[in-house]
Amino acid sequence: MKPYLKRAWAEVSLPQLRKNYSIIKSLNSPPTEVMAVVKADAYGHGDEHIIRCLADDCGVKYFAVSNLDEAIAVRGFCPEADILILGYTPPEYAHEISMYNIIQGVVSAEYAEALAKNTPEPIRCHIKIDTGMGRIGLKYDLPEDCAAEVLRIMNIKKISVEGIYTHFAAADSDSPDNISYTDRQEKFILDTYEILLKHGVRLPHVHFMNSAAACYRNTPKSTLARAGIILYGLHPDAGLPIPDGLEPVMELKAVISQVKTVKEGTCISYGRTFTAEKEMRIATVTIGYADGYSRLLSSKGEILVHGKRCKIVGRVCMDQLMIDVSAVPEACSGDIVTLIGRDGDERITADDLASLYGTIGYEVVCGISKRVPRIYIE
Ligand SMILES: *Cc1c(COP(=O)(O)O)cnc(C)c1O
Repeated sequence: MKPYLKRAWAEVSLPQLRKNYSIIKSLNSPPTEVMAVVKADAYGHGDEHIIRCLADDCGVKYFAVSNLDEAIAVRGFCPEADILILGYTPPEYAHEISMYNIIQGVVSAEYAEALAKNTPEPIRCHIKIDTGMGRIGLKYDLPEDCAAEVLRIMNIKKISVEGIYTHFAAADSDSPDNISYTDRQEKFILDTYEILLKHGVRLPHVHFMNSAAACYRNTPKSTLARAGIILYGLHPDAGLPIPDGLEPVMELKAVISQVKTVKEGTCISYGRTFTAEKEMRIATVTIGYADGYSRLLSSKGEILVHGKRCKIVGRVCMDQLMIDVSAVPEACSGDIVTLIGRDGDERITADDLASLYGTIGYEVVCGISKRVPRIYIE
């Protein structure tokens, strides 16, 4: 064990990250390149190690983040990469964007003007088109009008447009209705790109694939595959399988601090929501909702102890929780337990936990708090 407090920690497997990357790369044929989405501290996995591994070991040249702080962090780890900010940057920071050689997603002509006003140097941009996500970007009924607006933005001084992109709303669904919705989104951006070509404008990039699209509907027409969740080995949608070999990169572990045998009638944890109906062995575990292990898992979640599933009893507390280890006689104080990951033949994934309390694996991994050290397995 490394010299940190052995309480609650996440183990991040860099070999598995490299494997996931190579699978994603092989799914998407040239000219499509993988743009690694590393927003939110690399989906909670810890940006520095993830980005260095992807850039130095895997040769990734494209990264996407959500904001300027994250972009500057990535720039610190890779001086050469193309770094795209997918979200909003206040135009006052335009100078920083160009200073760090970052690419900004541009959502409108007004926004482009505001950026240009705030920087003496050219600023690199990809123009975001809202083809159906309803979030950010140019919104038009016709690709002709959209292309005309792209051309107007390209004429703004200091705005250097290198691509257009859009984001799918439902590429993680196999319902015919959602598939045709995504088809229309894809057609809109490709038509816009074609119209620009007819005007003699050949932008280096047009991209629209996220993880789900990279798995289920990859096409060489997208110059970049913006892969987020599958890099970390989780599912874009819990109901749909992902390609073989993609496996979770992160495990979450904690320790048993105490084991007690309790009598029938003993109450466990806040609110007395659990009362032992017979004699039981109860173990206390050193993790709680302040670590990002949701309180919504109270009396629902299971934890692996010596390769066996043990149920959480009563409410998850801020820093601790209790489990029933009656079926694991060898469980004792100091034992390491697995909240996310594999132990023997059993496995619990972030996607499994998510489905227990009505969210997605994305939120589970992003929610593992700062207090939980990330330990990297080389
Ligand atoms: C977060 C994000 C992605 C990555 O999504 P995944 O489902 O994790 O692959 C891609 N593009 C945009 C615009 C995003 O915001």
